Amino acid sequence: MQYGSTRTPDHRVPLSTALQRGLAPDGGLYVPEQFPSFRPRDFAGHDTVEAVAERLLRPFLGEGLLADHLSAICAATYGFPVPLRPLGRATSVLELFHGPTAAFKDVGARFLADSLARLNDEADQPLTILVATSGDTGAAVAAAFWKKPNVEVVVLYPKGKVSDRQEKQLTGWDTNVQTVSVRGTFDDCQALVKEAFQNERWQSQKRLSSANSINIGRLLPQMTYYAHASLQHWRAHGTRPNVIVPSGNLGNGLACLYARACGLPIGAVVFATNENRPVTHFLDTGAYEAFDSKETLATAMDVGDPSNMERLRHHWPSADALREAITAVRVTDDDIRRQIRRGPEAWDTVWDPHTACAVAAREQLDPDDAHDWILVGTAHPAKFPDVVEPLVGHAVEVPDPLAEVMARSHSVPEISPTLDALGKAVGDPARIP
Ligand SMILES: *Cc1c(COP(=O)(O)O)cnc(C)c1O
Repeated sequence: MQYGSTRTPDHRVPLSTALQRGLAPDGGLYVPEQFPSFRPRDFAGHDTVEAVAERLLRPFLGEGLLADHLSAICAATYGFPVPLRPLGRATSVLELFHGPTAAFKDVGARFLADSLARLNDEADQPLTILVATSGDTGAAVAAAFWKKPNVEVVVLYPKGKVSDRQEKQLTGWDTNVQTVSVRGTFDDCQALVKEAFQNERWQSQKRLSSANSINIGRLLPQMTYYAHASLQHWRAHGTRPNVIVPSGNLGNGLACLYARACGLPIGAVVFATNENRPVTHFLDTGAYEAFDSKETLATAMDVGDPSNMERLRHHWPSADALREAITAVRVTDDDIRRQIRRGPEAWDTVWDPHTACAVAAREQLDPDDAHDWILVGTAHPAKFPDVVEPLVGHAVEVPDPLAEVMARSHSVPEISPTLDALGKAVGDPARIP
């Protein structure tokens, strides 16, 4: 399989190149050239998510080093469960928050980290991954690359602009992962990363790469939990469940559509968004418009101009085509609060603000719809105690992996947002375990 750019379809590269570049040279996003065609029975005997992942991803890898190591890469990606938990009322929740940073981004980040480490195994210089984060992505990337050989990571976050708990997750790393607190905004952090990429001295001294969410190496592995969950449902009921995905930058929802395009037994796909409107507005009007991002309770979905829109519109070029592929439901902060408050009684569950968007969408769509629904649980509620605890009236227990990261939290260098300061803080590139 080759990967084309959304902007220059006949610029084709193998997966290894797409992973290492992140973005295509023309600024486009890499997309698979075609989708393999599976039937549920092709997965007979593949019961674990690791085994399903290996079967599903095989055709996406082509030949070469990644294909040779696919089994080990899938094992490294998971190592934690992704259970489909029945809730009653024809609804289950796919819990994607049992990984090290308690959110679904662990899956994509771990696949990418393991793949990049293997691709750089023989290189004489480590790969340096630069990440600017407003919270969750940086923690997932740091956790995924921690102690991987021949890769180093520098995480930049805006000082005072992430929650206490997020800060603890960003600063619980050492050896090959360095975190730097930047006196500035998230945009300053992102600008600094861009500047490093364009700086000749940085380019000549380090082999820079990124691990942001537009990398196809984070999207592909996200198909695998949809495959595993839908097969589980298919085997038990013989029907295709509908899936509701809390969505912001649209990577997770797109992965669900990719899984369905490969023939996995998935019915309707619903993108649950918060008050940010780019998707619902596009489906309503047929004209794409980027918005400024709006702050909501589901912060990781506060995206006004989602980068994966470019992939969606590549695969489903018209608004009509996209309307056939997905439904989108917009959820307000009031809806989120309401669902978190009534979660323990209505569903016997404490929801995080992002998963609560899927719950709200489920109730808005048609409460009596006879289809089976899978709500995608993107984060553990303990990540957002300030929002969740007052609404449910008690403390939420922190899951062990997350507690371990936070317990390792230590002070990190604080810099002004300049490349010089960053260079001094991260020092010599060859500090690899
Ligand atoms: C990133 C994130 C989302 C949004 O996922 P996209 O792939 O950007 O649409 C939803 N929930 C949580 C908890 C997240 O961290």
